[in-house]
Amino acid sequence: MWQVTALTLFPEMFPGPLGESLAGKALKEGLWSLEAVDIRRFAKDRHGTVDDAPFGGGAGMVMKPDVLSAAIAASAPTGVEGPRVPKLLMSPRGAPFSQARARELAAGPGVLLVCGRFEGVDERVIEAHALEEVSVGDFVLSGGEIAAMAVIDGCVRLLPGVMGEPASASEESFENGLLEYPHYTRPASWAGPDGIDRRVPEILVSGHHGKVAEWRMEQRKEITRRRRPDLWARRTPAK
Ligand code: SAH
Repeated sequence: MWQVTALTLFPEMFPGPLGESLAGKALKEGLWSLEAVDIRRFAKDRHGTVDDAPFGGGAGMVMKPDVLSAAIAASAPTGVEGPRVPKLLMSPRGAPFSQARARELAAGPGVLLVCGRFEGVDERVIEAHALEEVSVGDFVLSGGEIAAMAVIDGCVRLLPGVMGEPASASEESFENGLLEYPHYTRPASWAGPDGIDRRVPEILVSGHHGKVAEWRMEQRKEITRRRRPDLWARRTPAK
């Protein structure tokens, strides 16, 4: 079973949206497991203090190293036996999370995710526990929980038995470095609120599978080139 441990100051946020639909069904079926660990449980004083003012001054609070470290140590035994679970810290300055990283994580034993709050965590915890900093995009969330859920969801749908049709994953966005082609379903002709009649591309109703595949590949290339020149450039071998 793929094991998720989420360290958070808000354990009641979990499973949240992960309890619904695809991921929720898989959770109930035991294809993956989720433990939300309350970091505050590891506070050293009776007030349950988990944060303190930053050395050097400045705005906001920093998550204390002793408390967070104790929570990580209790949740990720580093002994020789047992699977080594990657330890991720949700962080806007981390490596951008990717489909490739999701595939790697999904192929492993599971993941431990540390959800930051306030201004972030004491740098020494990142070092001491060799946390891998992961970002879900170039914007700032108020906490790591939603980022962690995005990472978990991206991995869980890749686990064997979670998605109905395994083939559908290989044609998706980012697999092969390309975005997805456009989708259409019935009716073949549809008039939207602007009154304009829109027909699905003729090729899709032709029944010609080879031509359909060719058209879809062309669409993927065109959309990637236009919308994500960065992806396109990385895919095309440099000359
Ligand atoms: N002061 C920090 C932002 C802290 S936001 C800075 O300027 O970089 C509080 C917490 O939310 C972070 O510790 C992190 O765990 C989470 N977080 C915010 N944005 C994120 C992002 N884009 N990706 C992953 N985690 C994020």
